[in-house]
Amino acid sequence: MNPATVLFLKQAYREYYFRWADSIEFPDDIQSREFGYIPFGGGMVRHLSFRSEGEAVAEILKQSPSSVYCSNARYDSPTAPIEEKGWLGAELIFDIDATDIPTMCKRNHDLWYCRNCNSSGKLPRPQQCPRCAKSSTVEFHGTCETCLEAARDHALRVVWFLADDFGVPRESIKLYFSGNRGYHLQISDERFYSLNQTGRAEVADYMLGASLPPPQTIVSVMKRRKSDFRSQDRGWIGRIAGYVNEKREGYTGTLQRLVSDSITYQRAMVDSSVTTDIHRVFRLAGTLHGNTGMCKLRVESIENFNPQQDPVVLSEKLVNLNVGFCPKFMIKGREFGPFKSQTAELPTYAAVFILTRGLAEVA
Ligand SMILES: [Zn+2]
Ligand SMILES: [Zn+2]
Repeated sequence: MNPATVLFLKQAYREYYFRWADSIEFPDDIQSREFGYIPFGGGMVRHLSFRSEGEAVAEILKQSPSSVYCSNARYDSPTAPIEEKGWLGAELIFDIDATDIPTMCKRNHDLWYCRNCNSSGKLPRPQQCPRCAKSSTVEFHGTCETCLEAARDHALRVVWFLADDFGVPRESIKLYFSGNRGYHLQISDERFYSLNQTGRAEVADYMLGASLPPPQTIVSVMKRRKSDFRSQDRGWIGRIAGYVNEKREGYTGTLQRLVSDSITYQRAMVDSSVTTDIHRVFRLAGTLHGNTGMCKLRVESIENFNPQQDPVVLSEKLVNLNVGFCPKFMIKGREFGPFKSQTAELPTYAAVFILTRGLAEVA
């Protein structure tokens, strides 16, 4: 990232924060939270604390960083080193990323390219570029409507698990678009606040279906009980029974296969490393994602939410770029690219989308 690109990105982000600082969603007890940020072209700065929202906004405006984070934990001393912070509890959080959900379309939009000669090809990524022989190949993960739809579906599964199996009131579940390829959920239910890493791992494993016995064991228990599980049963048992009973008629495969499918199609692919990290700084809602320029946005109505449109908040102002390699991409309902070793004039929101991925520089 050259200095002109860094300057352009900082200005674009600052312009957004200058106009929309009010839409940053600060947590309760701001004084007990740890904040962090990543400047453009720099490393993570954390262990920061602010006395008020105004003070935090002033710093965000001043830095106009690539990413802004805030802890879901509360601390006695948020600026102290981790082991001396005095952990007071943390909201339960979930991260759903389309990258973790197996979708068939990935073979079309995930690829490798060479940072040296801009060659590209299908995954898996070769260590050495077949064209220039340099070890400068990197993976590129694209996104598409199918991936975003899958992420939405898994986010809804988390909501169902929380509401049906954990009895969490719907108003305690805050759903956000992550600003990139997925969704974040933040749960304001005090029952979870004091939960340690092990407890949080159990919750994540439950949603992933990772704590279930293998399908053949479930089938043998079903057979031993002589009666099938009932869909009225609570938790996973009821979920599996509901699926099996619905699909069984006319199904020609084995019961074991049906049980296995029932888990695959109902589990939520949460990133358990996020849920279990009790000292995490999590992207602050209302701030811009560092790899897309899109906003982490509260989703009030998931049916009406358009992840390729609604989080795109940067301006239409045109800018000239030198693009190395960039596959075709969709943003704000418009298609751009593909570009290869060329200049291109793009609206700011699309320019930022590829500049932040290191695919281009400002001309
Ligand atoms: Zn190459
Ligand atoms: Zn896709």
